[in-house]
Amino acid sequence: MKPLLAILLLCLTSIAHGAPTKPIPGGIYRFKIPIDATNIAYRGKSVFIAKEWALVAIPITTEPGESSLTYAQGGSLQTHNFTIQPHAYTEQHITIKNEALVSPPPEAQKRIQRESARQRGLYASHRPEHNVTSGFQLPLTGITTSLFGHKRFFNGQPRNPHSGLDIAADRGTPIVAAGGGVVTLADELYFNGNTIFIDHGRGLITMYCHMSKLEVVENERVSKGQTIGLVGATGRATGPHLHWSVSLNETRVDPKIFTEALNQTVNSQAN
Ligand SMILES: [Zn+2]
Repeated sequence: MKPLLAILLLCLTSIAHGAPTKPIPGGIYRFKIPIDATNIAYRGKSVFIAKEWALVAIPITTEPGESSLTYAQGGSLQTHNFTIQPHAYTEQHITIKNEALVSPPPEAQKRIQRESARQRGLYASHRPEHNVTSGFQLPLTGITTSLFGHKRFFNGQPRNPHSGLDIAADRGTPIVAAGGGVVTLADELYFNGNTIFIDHGRGLITMYCHMSKLEVVENERVSKGQTIGLVGATGRATGPHLHWSVSLNETRVDPKIFTEALNQTVNSQAN
């Protein structure tokens, strides 16, 4: 069996995600904010708010079971309990020909550390502005080759779970912004190749990797659906594809679950 076909079959077996409101590790818990409630927090950090809903990012490393968020109401601190459901993520084995991209040589370590510190700083950004009132769209139409959460092995070596969604398309296909925001990074990174970060406000950041060409610059304001770059295979990539990730309050979540939860929220009628 060809490796790509094997990956596709593997993906099909794991495509059955829960409904967006079903909280799983790596997913979203959607919470209707009680009237007059403020300071909604999960694990001591304030959460993303859109309309009268809180979208809570659940880290993929969270153990299923009882969890809670807190909020202030009428001068006292309230607790809301919810249950994180178990979810089985599948394994994915990938062969990378360039060994330097699997086990980087010592001389690359400084660059990698510098780049990850920069990315952590961007994820921690929290502009109060809310740029996604019209929701999200998929940044690229193509073949999904790897889902969020796969337990990954590069040349047999275990690595962190897949933190985004991989969509394959022809080299040069335009990639668009999932939603409005400000470009906070447009640069070439060691693992991610030509990469764009968009800050959508309120702790919501999207990342787009492996592009052959960047079409926007840092600090540029972009709108939903605007072309930001072209599909490529720069960085650690086995072929032309987009790695798209969604970070919410410094937590990488399933882009498909987040998109559904956000769109359901922005399209909901206020009452
Ligand atoms: Zn990926």
